[in-house]
Amino acid sequence: METDTITAISTPIGEGAIAIVRLSGPEAVSMTARIFKGKNLNEVDSHTIHYGKLVDPKTNEIAEEVMVSVMRAPKTFTREDVVEINCHGGMVAVNRVLELILSIGARLAEPGEFTKRAFLNGRIDLSQAEAVMDLIRAKTDRAMSVALKQMDGRLSGLIGKLRQELIETVAHVEVNIDYPEYDDVEEMSHEMMRTKTKEVHAKIDDLLSVAKQGKILREGLATAIIGRPNVGKSSLMNTLVQENKAIVTDVPGTTRDIIEEYVNVRGVPLRLVDTAGIRETEDIVERIGVERSRQVLKESDLILFVLNNNDVLTDEDFKLFEAVSGLEYIVIINKTDLEQKLDMDRVKELVGDRPLVTTSLIEEEGIDELEQAIADTFFAGEIETGDLTYVSNARHIQLLKQASLALEDAMEGIDLGMPMDIVQIDVTRTWEFLGEIIGDTASDSLIDQLFSQFCLGK
Ligand code: GDP
Ligand code: ZN
Repeated sequence: METDTITAISTPIGEGAIAIVRLSGPEAVSMTARIFKGKNLNEVDSHTIHYGKLVDPKTNEIAEEVMVSVMRAPKTFTREDVVEINCHGGMVAVNRVLELILSIGARLAEPGEFTKRAFLNGRIDLSQAEAVMDLIRAKTDRAMSVALKQMDGRLSGLIGKLRQELIETVAHVEVNIDYPEYDDVEEMSHEMMRTKTKEVHAKIDDLLSVAKQGKILREGLATAIIGRPNVGKSSLMNTLVQENKAIVTDVPGTTRDIIEEYVNVRGVPLRLVDTAGIRETEDIVERIGVERSRQVLKESDLILFVLNNNDVLTDEDFKLFEAVSGLEYIVIINKTDLEQKLDMDRVKELVGDRPLVTTSLIEEEGIDELEQAIADTFFAGEIETGDLTYVSNARHIQLLKQASLALEDAMEGIDLGMPMDIVQIDVTRTWEFLGEIIGDTASDSLIDQLFSQFCLGK
């Protein structure tokens, strides 16, 4: 397959002291050599870095001082010849370098085209390619490490194993059908098939059950701050945003009609959402009643329920307790700097074994404890970081669900005593769905669509 040489700025625009312009393709080195003054890049060893100047071949003017890395195929990200030009990070300088390269015949890369080439050249599989995309967008350290793991190919490895098991059973059935005289191959019984499909089904379900946590890690825990007027909800919100670097969400090409703020509390990404006004709820229960409030609150992953230490419990507080019962919530008793009027015994009774922290937001007391409680709630038992492979991508989750359903069809067929060659159709479908996750059976259009979501230059 004949390919051209592509180029793009591969560092974020307008950030950082150094920017990188990357080239990939058969002419990556020779093109750069034509505008590089220092030494002949065509003759340097692979994977070496060179200092020099870029010169406009038309005017002979020096355009930029640069460091150039030369990496020859196949040990590169795209498996093609790759050149990375490090230059000053300003917009003007980077653009000058890019324009210079375009002027001598390179083509501006489409979004995600570098990664697409890596995929097409067999360097990475589809789930790894998507992990690169997630990595670009990762909002917190933990989400980042999940993405890194996936890029490592761990999800691919798992999926690969499951597919292997499925294809073995399919092959087994094929042999039984095509070579009935072959006595050494035991006939695949319904019992054997049932055991196999059950095993694989359980493993797919395992992956699905961690999928939710993966999604939370990427998108943040939808968090609502509730409480009566004046208890300190806005103050809490401000404290969380100030204490923990708010994460700017700026995903190009997505429209966001809900107002959200991201904060990273000890590695737990909180998305303080304002869907249906639940972020800061002044009088939700008064407004729509306990049952409806419950429905609304259920949409959040975490509720921060604020009470005022300086006031007695009111009817509205009791209603709020009712609305959050059974949900994931933390009670915060605020304004401990003021005289205690709250009936603590009663509060403890209502809180039960949910976490309870006391704060004075004005004096900045109790904030560490609150943050610890948030982290504990999220990580307690539910999520083990370390060696789980998280499925964090909506497309993967969808395909896993389809695979699981197809396998359930197969299991039903087995229970009904259907002939093996019929059961095998569903097993093959399962195999195909799983294959789509790693790009093995993915159609070209799917691949194009996926890669166009990448940022330019990756
Ligand atoms: P919201 O109505 O629940 O959003 O409450 P606000 O955050 O707007 O706070 C209401 C008032 O309580 C403001 O005047 C805050 O300055 C004050 N406030 C918030 N936290 C504390 C605290 O810990 N101690 C004291 N004394 N006042 C507080
Ligand atoms: Zn407020």
